[in-house]
Amino acid sequence: MSEHARPYTGPGDVDRLNGLGVSPGRSAGPLIRMAEPPELPAPGPVTDQAAEIATITKALEAVAIDLRTRSEATTDRTAAEILDALAMMADDPMLREDAERHARAGRDAPHALDAAFSRHRETLSSLGGYLAERAADLDDLKHRAVAAALGLPMPGIPSPGHPYILAAEDLSPADTAGLGDDVLALVTERGGPTSHTAILARGRGLPAVVACRGVLDLPDGTIISVDGRTGEIATGLTPEAAARIVDQDRAERNRLAATRGPGRTADGHPVKLLLNIGSAADLPPGPLDAEGVGLFRTEFLFLDRKQPPTFEEQVAAYAEVFARIGPVVVRTLDAGTDKPLPFLGLPPEPNPALGIRGLRVDRLLPAVLDTQLDAIAEAARATATTPWVMAPMVTTRAEAADFAARARSRGLTQVGAMIEVPAAALQAEELLAEVDFLSIGTNDLSQYTFAADRQHPSLADLLDPRQPALLKLIALCTEAGHALGKPVGVCGEAAGDPQLAPLLVGLGVTSLSMAPVCVPAVRDELSRHTIEECRHLASQ
Ligand code: PEP
Ligand code: MG
Repeated sequence: MSEHARPYTGPGDVDRLNGLGVSPGRSAGPLIRMAEPPELPAPGPVTDQAAEIATITKALEAVAIDLRTRSEATTDRTAAEILDALAMMADDPMLREDAERHARAGRDAPHALDAAFSRHRETLSSLGGYLAERAADLDDLKHRAVAAALGLPMPGIPSPGHPYILAAEDLSPADTAGLGDDVLALVTERGGPTSHTAILARGRGLPAVVACRGVLDLPDGTIISVDGRTGEIATGLTPEAAARIVDQDRAERNRLAATRGPGRTADGHPVKLLLNIGSAADLPPGPLDAEGVGLFRTEFLFLDRKQPPTFEEQVAAYAEVFARIGPVVVRTLDAGTDKPLPFLGLPPEPNPALGIRGLRVDRLLPAVLDTQLDAIAEAARATATTPWVMAPMVTTRAEAADFAARARSRGLTQVGAMIEVPAAALQAEELLAEVDFLSIGTNDLSQYTFAADRQHPSLADLLDPRQPALLKLIALCTEAGHALGKPVGVCGEAAGDPQLAPLLVGLGVTSLSMAPVCVPAVRDELSRHTIEECRHLASQ
């Protein structure tokens, strides 16, 4: 039991836990914990082979049914196709026969399943290419089947058949991408405010709280409320109290959604409100109420890939976004640290956040950036649009100049540099002389300015974007923009915080790029302040 949670005794026994609110909105409902993969116990003596075989059949059936239920419950077509493909793998008669053979040879059901899945995994891996990539899916299926055979809850994203709040130690980008529509909110014990779990939760518009110690001590089914702005979790609510919170949240979202149109201060000073996305799927359905995409994180398209995406695949993925909204700021691949791209095959490093990441990958693999720039240029031609391109982790003027030359040689006319490294902010004017715009990535700029891991739950105060040292670096960039008459935006998570928006605008920021879910509250807050008030706030 964590020091932060006292024993929970049942509904009506309301208690509170605190974490960091990282994705706005409130929700309430029953909590379900994400189970860890089961540990295989020591092999047991087998007295009844027929019973073991029956357990194998039932376990594989349970896995397939669970996956099909999740597929039917989601409105995300890609997720449904993946889940159906996994269900077919669980139904594979060869796999079942193999497990049964192991049972007849004297293994208990969990070990027979483990052996059968492991053999199939080896076969797939040896085939290489796309099939080898699917080998990891077999591990996931194996964990599920073994858990079912042991009578344990299935690991991975639960599918209880009703809406629920998901609690987990942490979520990988792949877990978060696979969440069904039945998830009301996320709470994790680990993670930080700018971790990619937080970013993905915001991308899906799910209230989320990270670094919430004690949440995994609550039993499944406890009704909790989640406040994704304050980070507060109330436990032990009655179903009526939970329903009231859901209604209030809906009313607040409706109120904010009623304010539409471009970003403006109260006296009409324009501030572009742009979207952060990882693929076309992150763009909300229907007409888009934003002035473009300010950060297209292209690496999110290819996170689980072991083979490099082809030129054609990239063209298709970029064109899909360009065709829906413009202008789009495409950020070239930002691989490394918490976003490893297996297909790059980068060597392990002792200190990856300070190593080969972002634009630095170009030092080892220049063809990757060249192909990506070719694909962006081709997608622009195919859709008759003018995307902007920018590089992550630019550190020196020479890097900015090299990137700009390579982009421009392909007809890409709007070229920018992200400011994520203090050295780049200190040289903002020199960098901006080489490019057309700057985009400040406050997540990494905080991490590198304060020497504080952006995922670290105990260093949240250092990662707070109100820190004066960070604001001074932002001011250096906006002053450079002002001097050269070029735009300087913010695309880190700070841009989506309504309380910060007037301050950033007062510092001279010309655009704010954020998860779609954050736009209404930022627009609403900006409309309440004149530009003079914003500047006054910044001068303080
Ligand atoms: C940032 O660092 O602020 C940023 C926008 O990039 P990412 O979060 O993808 O590293
Ligand atoms: Mg970054």
